Amino acid sequence: MSVVQRKAMLKAEGFFPHKKNGKGTTIIYSRKHPTAKFVRVVVDSGIDSKTNKIGMVRGGKVGVKLCYVNRQKQWREITTEVFTTNTGLVKTIRAQEAAEKFVKTCKHCKAKKFKAKSGNVVCANACWTAWGNKKKNATTKKTAQKKPQKIAAKKSQKKAPNIMVGRVEKSKRKKTAEKIFTAEILPGDLVTVEEIEGEKVTKNFTGKILGIVKSVKDNAVDVDWTANTSTLEEWCLPRWKTVVVPKNSMITDYRFKVLSREVKYTIVT
Ligand SMILES: [Zn+2]
Repeated sequence: MSVVQRKAMLKAEGFFPHKKNGKGTTIIYSRKHPTAKFVRVVVDSGIDSKTNKIGMVRGGKVGVKLCYVNRQKQWREITTEVFTTNTGLVKTIRAQEAAEKFVKTCKHCKAKKFKAKSGNVVCANACWTAWGNKKKNATTKKTAQKKPQKIAAKKSQKKAPNIMVGRVEKSKRKKTAEKIFTAEILPGDLVTVEEIEGEKVTKNFTGKILGIVKSVKDNAVDVDWTANTSTLEEWCLPRWKTVVVPKNSMITDYRFKVLSREVKYTIVT
């Protein structure tokens, strides 16, 4: 199979080589899908970028798939990569282009859906987390204007689940009747969610909810939630590394559980 021929075919099809391949050493090519917005046809040429020869991985075949470029400019694979030879290349490109209309669309933001690492098919924009962030920012700003940040954070944490609202008023009067726990959560951590009742963990959402910590600023943890197949609504997902537990309370709350390292909650007050 000729490298020259393969490159010529890709050029004739309007593909451009990428400068980088994040996952391997072969040259990746891509171009826009002829009709679908934010969709790119991505070709793994199988040509090694260093030797300029067709490698023997996958029998020297060329891989073709579709990717959706989400709002964060992340490329999400929306079709299964199909491997072919030079002879089948153009036909496979056409077949992948046609497959676009069978890829499910998010009913909320119209983005394509993709299969996350967890195996769940979710919105490429992870738009449910954006709704949560909007709400979070709104509450933080409001409270932060009046109170120091730590208290603002504590209050928002308590406000998140509906069931807690009744107790917030009470704790205003009795500030000492609570325990504050915190965990060291760092950017890049893989996280899921734990349900707690008082100080007791009552549910573990490992395998159902998965996120990657994007940033941690003071007490606020910004997470890219990649999957959520649980019944837990997006506004219940934790946003703070600190958890306030009112004394003798059996109130349900949610906190982070770090999957990529061993992280324990320690008591602050
Ligand atoms: Zn969406």
